[in-house]
Amino acid sequence: MQMTSQEVLKKYFGYDSFRPGQDTLVEGILSGRDALGIMPTGAGKSLCYQIPALLMDGITLVISPLISLMKDQVTTLNQAGIHAAFLNSSLTPGQYRKALSLMVQGRYRIVYVAPERLLTESFLEAAGQISISMVSVDEAHCISQWGQDFRPSYLKISEFIDRLPVRPVVSAFTATATREVKEDILALLGLRDPVQVTTGFDRKNLKFLVQHPANKLKALLDYLGEHDQECGIIYCLTRKLVEEVSGELVKRGYSVTRYHAGLSDEERKNNQEDFLFDRKQIMVATNAFGMGIDKSNVRFVVHYNMPKNMESYYQEAGRAGRDGLPSECLLMYAGQDVVTNQFFIDRMGPAEEETDPETAALIREREKERLKEMTFYCFTNDCLRAYILRYFGEYGDNYCGNCSNCLTQFEDRDVSETARMIIGCVDSAPREYGMTVIVDTVHGSKNQKIARTGMERNPWYGMGSQIPVFQLRQVMNHLIWHGYLTLTEDEYPVLRLTGEGRRVLEGEPVVMKVPKERPKTKDAAGKKSKGKLPAAVGDADPDLFARLRQRRMEIAKREKVPPYIVFTDKTLVQMCILHPSTPREMLKVSGVGEAKLEKYGEEFLEVLRENG
Ligand code: ADP
Ligand code: MG
Repeated sequence: MQMTSQEVLKKYFGYDSFRPGQDTLVEGILSGRDALGIMPTGAGKSLCYQIPALLMDGITLVISPLISLMKDQVTTLNQAGIHAAFLNSSLTPGQYRKALSLMVQGRYRIVYVAPERLLTESFLEAAGQISISMVSVDEAHCISQWGQDFRPSYLKISEFIDRLPVRPVVSAFTATATREVKEDILALLGLRDPVQVTTGFDRKNLKFLVQHPANKLKALLDYLGEHDQECGIIYCLTRKLVEEVSGELVKRGYSVTRYHAGLSDEERKNNQEDFLFDRKQIMVATNAFGMGIDKSNVRFVVHYNMPKNMESYYQEAGRAGRDGLPSECLLMYAGQDVVTNQFFIDRMGPAEEETDPETAALIREREKERLKEMTFYCFTNDCLRAYILRYFGEYGDNYCGNCSNCLTQFEDRDVSETARMIIGCVDSAPREYGMTVIVDTVHGSKNQKIARTGMERNPWYGMGSQIPVFQLRQVMNHLIWHGYLTLTEDEYPVLRLTGEGRRVLEGEPVVMKVPKERPKTKDAAGKKSKGKLPAAVGDADPDLFARLRQRRMEIAKREKVPPYIVFTDKTLVQMCILHPSTPREMLKVSGVGEAKLEKYGEEFLEVLRENG
C-alpha cells in the first residue's frame, strides 16, 4: 500500500511533522505540479524533493552545484536507508560507468547529478532508458547572473529537460529571495505554473550580535573563552587575516583549521573534512568556505570583518544553527572593513567578459549602495533582526529580545551641541574634507595634517577638546547615517552638508540613542554558560549528553561519516530529555527513523540505560 508523505517523513527521517511550507511543496509536487521553494538556509529544503522522490514511480534527478554538497546529501540518504547516488567528477571513469548502469537498472530512487554532466552523450543515453519522474534543482539561484554564485552550466538544465521523451515534474529550491533571481529561476528553468512557497526569513534560534572592539583579536579570544567545546566558523575578509587569526588561535592551543583560495585543493579538502567530522572545532576562513556546508551543529559564526553586503552576511551567518538549536552570529566591525570592501569593489572584475563599461559601473554603484546598508547594520541601535528582515523585504517586530541591541539598554542623549560643532566645522571649512580632518579640528589636535590645512584658524577648532575622539566619531557617524551629512564616494570621501544638517545649525536638536553603560561584551544578557556546557544543550543532563556525543563519535569513525550525519545535536539533546529505554520509545525521538534505529538504536540505548 502506498505510504503517505507524513509516514515517509517519520519512517525514513524520524520527524513527526513538516515544517512550514514543506507540506505545501510536497503535496504540490505529488499532484504533478512544478514547484518553487524559497526558504532560508536550514529551513529543510532537501526533504521537499526527497519525500516526493520516494513516493513517485520513477527516478528523481537532483541537480546540485557542488561535489561536497552531493556527497553529504547522498550519505545522509543512505544512512536513512534510501538508495541514492551521485554522478560527478569525483568519480573515476569506471565508478561513473558503474553508477550510471546501476541507475539504468533502477537501483536508485534519487540520483544527484552535476549540471555539466547533463548534456554529455553517456548521460543522455542513460537518461533515455529510465523513467524520470522529477528533475529537482537545488541551489537554483546558481542559474541567475544576478546572484554571486552564477554557474553557466545551470543554463543547460532546461535544454536537458526538453530532450527527455516525457517532461518530468520540475522543482527548484533556493535561499535567495530577490525578485531578479526569482524571475530568472522561473524563466530559465521554464517552470510551468509552479506551486510557490516563500517562507519567512527569520531564524529564531539565531542570536545576532554586533561589536565594535578596539582590539579584535582580544575580543575574539574573550568570545571563544565563553564558547569552548562549541563548533564555530570565523570569517575573515582576506587570506592574510585568515592566516593571522588561525595562527594566533593555534598558538593558544585551540582546535582550529583554516580555508581560503590560496591553499592547495588537497589541503582545502582535508581542512574542510576536519571541520565537518568534528576533528577540528573551529574553522577560520574567507568567504570561499561554506557553500554546500550542511554541518548542522555549527554553534557560532563570527565575522572578524564586516562582509560586503547583507546578502553575504545573512548567508554566512546563517550557517549557524541549522539544527534549530540556539546559536550565535557575531559581527566585529571596524572602520577599516569599509575601506577593504571599497577596495574590492573598485577592483572588481566584470562578471562576464562581454560586460560593457556602463553596466560594470552600474554594478559597482549597486555594490557600494549595498555596502552602505551593511555598514548601517553595524551602527543601528534598533533591533538587528528587524533590520535584517526589513532588508529582505519582510516586516519584523522592532523588538526580538535576542540580539545585542534588544539586549542592551539604551537611553536617548541630546547631542545637539556636539553635532553643531561638527556640522559647523564642515560648513565653515574653506574646502571639503574627510572625517578625520573634521574630527581632529573639532577636537583641537595639533598634528601636521591640521597644520597643513590651516584648520587651526577654523572657528570651531578645539571647541570639542573636552570630548573624547571616539565620541566625536560616534556622533559624526550618527549624523551621516541619519542624513545630516553625506559622505561622497570618491577614493578619498569628503563630507558635505545637507538641508537637514543646516537645520541643526539653525537650532534643531539632535537626539542619539546610546547604550546606558558599555556592557562588557555588548551581549548584556551574556549568561556565562554553566560549566563548559554548550548553551544549546539547554536543560539536558550535560554528562549524559557528553556520553551520547562520545558514542556518536565512535560510530562516526567506524562508519566514516561526519558525526552530525549519524544524529544531529538536536536529536541527542532530545534523547537526554525523553530518556527512551526501548526501541519503540527511541522512535519517538525527533530525528530517529527506522533505518537509523535499526543501525544505531541499541548502541545509544545502551548509553541511556547505563545512565539509569
Ligand atoms: P536547507 O537545504 O533548506 O538549508 P536542509 O534540507 O539541509 O536545509 O535541512 C536542515 C536541517 O533541518 C536538516 O538537519 C534536516 O534534517 C532538518 N529538517 C528538515 N525538515 C525537518 C522537519 N520537518 N522536522 C525536523 N527537522 C527537519
Ligand atoms: Mg540545501
